[in-house]
Amino acid sequence: MEEISKRLMLSYAIESKDWKKASELLLHESSAALKNYVDNRKGYNVLHLACLSRDTPLEIINTILASSPLSALVEDNRGQTPLAIALRRSADDASLAILQVCPQAAQVEDIEGHTPLHYAVHGEKPIEVIISLIQANPYALTDSLLHAFYNRWNMGLREVFNASKNLNTFANSILDVRVPHRISPRIVRELHQKACVLTKSYDGSTSPSLHSSIRVQSCPWSFCELILKINPEQIYQEDNNGNHAIHIAVSSSYLSTDADFYVCNECKSPFKSKWYQHKRHNHELQSQYCVDCVHGGLEPYLFQEEDYIVVNSVNKIPAIIDSLVTLKPDLASVPNSVGKLPLHQAIESSHNFSSIQALLYASPNALKTRDIQSHLTPFMSSAVERIFEREEDKLDKFSSCFAWLMEDPTLISSGIL
Ligand SMILES: [Zn+2]
Repeated sequence: MEEISKRLMLSYAIESKDWKKASELLLHESSAALKNYVDNRKGYNVLHLACLSRDTPLEIINTILASSPLSALVEDNRGQTPLAIALRRSADDASLAILQVCPQAAQVEDIEGHTPLHYAVHGEKPIEVIISLIQANPYALTDSLLHAFYNRWNMGLREVFNASKNLNTFANSILDVRVPHRISPRIVRELHQKACVLTKSYDGSTSPSLHSSIRVQSCPWSFCELILKINPEQIYQEDNNGNHAIHIAVSSSYLSTDADFYVCNECKSPFKSKWYQHKRHNHELQSQYCVDCVHGGLEPYLFQEEDYIVVNSVNKIPAIIDSLVTLKPDLASVPNSVGKLPLHQAIESSHNFSSIQALLYASPNALKTRDIQSHLTPFMSSAVERIFEREEDKLDKFSSCFAWLMEDPTLISSGIL
């Protein structure tokens, strides 16, 4: 009977934020049972109750965890652990304290199947919390979670870059610029840190962030551009396989464009190479429409042309190749870890002529250089591929071959035939 009344007193003290009383009860010598107390109405234990408020002193959380670390694994009636509650209530110190004592809490999914990391990424929690959660449960970092992060920030970051071009902003001053978002804007510095942690962790390598951001498909061009601005030293760094960023880019496919992230508000179709975006889209709940819907005629209350801008989707891989070679033309002549030139790699990866012209102009000698493995020149490599999934690919390949030949017609007399 005495114990039941003490349980009620403790939960009342925590709920009413009477921290002095709560500390006294927690320090009581027979308090172990109190910490394992579960409230039958919502299924809360004492740690759940303590995590409900952002104001709960850290000593209270630590005292509960010290005598009952496994209370962090108790799920309430909705499948939420105290950690899930702390994340939802932005009790960041409490989240970190729980993860330190009971990292297994990062693995517990709620009844909707969401992990604590899901709430931390969607709730824009501090970088320390996100790092601790990934360390405690790396498997929670899924492609859809990365996609959600980039979906939210890609267009806002593009808006920042467009504005900074006009102001000639220096690389480091851009870190303090606010990236617009209709609910919670963030500064570039925070997004840069988070993108680096999320992308490198997902990539599961110790590569520089630039290399991971190129390799991870969900990462759009805007964030590669950001890392190029903030960490230009990474251009010449090698990953564990001895490859530079340029080698990763030229051996990647094209499957990463801005259009992958958004759908038309009217017809719900994915976007293609361009679309219409309301000028205040990154600041308020405003629409984006595909070209077909706009040309088909939208009701005036939905669409007024003067309120919209046309967004051109950027394809990440050609954009990064172009930027890297424009910034540092000598990269085009640097062989990869097995001695292949970037131009040879690009052709073997089926990049078409127009997307890698910059590579050719930065290293014209590559056009006459035979590949170390196949002993073919770039033109010959381009011509030998015979497997096409679609008719467009065949035409694309044909025009690329012709373009290579046009670049250096002497190839005909110097060893093709
Ligand atoms: Zn549409």
